[in-house]
Amino acid sequence: MRFSLGLLLVLCPGLLPAQTTGGADAPNAPAAADPDIVRAQAGIEKLRTLVAAGVAPRVQLEKAEDNLADLQDAAYLRSVLLVQDLSEAQTDEMVAAAGRRFERRKKAYEDARALVDAKVAPALSLGALLVDLDQARKELDLAESRARLTREIADMARAEQAMENQLSESAAAAPAIADRFDGDGVFTPAIFAQVETAFQTRFGKPLPVSAMGETEVHRAMGFDHRGRVDVALHPDSPEGAWLRQYLTTNGIPFFAFRQAVPGKATGAHIHLGPMSTRLKLGG
Ligand SMILES: [Zn+2]
Repeated sequence: MRFSLGLLLVLCPGLLPAQTTGGADAPNAPAAADPDIVRAQAGIEKLRTLVAAGVAPRVQLEKAEDNLADLQDAAYLRSVLLVQDLSEAQTDEMVAAAGRRFERRKKAYEDARALVDAKVAPALSLGALLVDLDQARKELDLAESRARLTREIADMARAEQAMENQLSESAAAAPAIADRFDGDGVFTPAIFAQVETAFQTRFGKPLPVSAMGETEVHRAMGFDHRGRVDVALHPDSPEGAWLRQYLTTNGIPFFAFRQAVPGKATGAHIHLGPMSTRLKLGG
């Protein structure tokens, strides 16, 4: 499994510090307050009347509606940029919005290109469209990267869910899906800070944290991950093996997951702290 922590930090600047809850609702906030959107909506209302009266062409209305959809997609993308963690459904929506913006710009460029090829427009007219297209492609790439990271976090959470199911069937049985170390049962922010420092000292880079406490992915799954930390390391990688050794030596509880689902090479990680529990309904 490949983890892109650098990207994670770029895309989710707020991920590493302690997470707050509630911020993840922002992408669903109405974008109607955006002045460009309000103006576009008013323009469409006016155009509809004109088209109905037969004094404006329908194609003009269609163009205005497409422009409004594009503004709404842009507003959605801006809103998710401010959110530090997203659910899988939200990332799907983000990729779809970025994909639509890319397709619109691709079509605008191709239409203009056809006019240039037909010698109806100067080649110079393509420059700005090409810049727009390039920008939209970068937006889409970023959205897809972020969606991949969210899926990785979700796969890790699914691994924990599978283990929780095993444990709820028989609490005494060793879970087949993970190595369990209870240590002295205590995991606090101060202990985590020690782990981070020790890893940084040993490997000269930050501990690759993929989920610090509760995330939107965990909430969506009904999982209480508060006070727990997921580290995006395969337990058998040199760094993962070192971390397990460190945690064992220091009596720090952890679970080491090699996969989310038997036979599927995703979801490997090391979970620090006691096991997550199911969120109580309404609590
Ligand atoms: Zn975890």
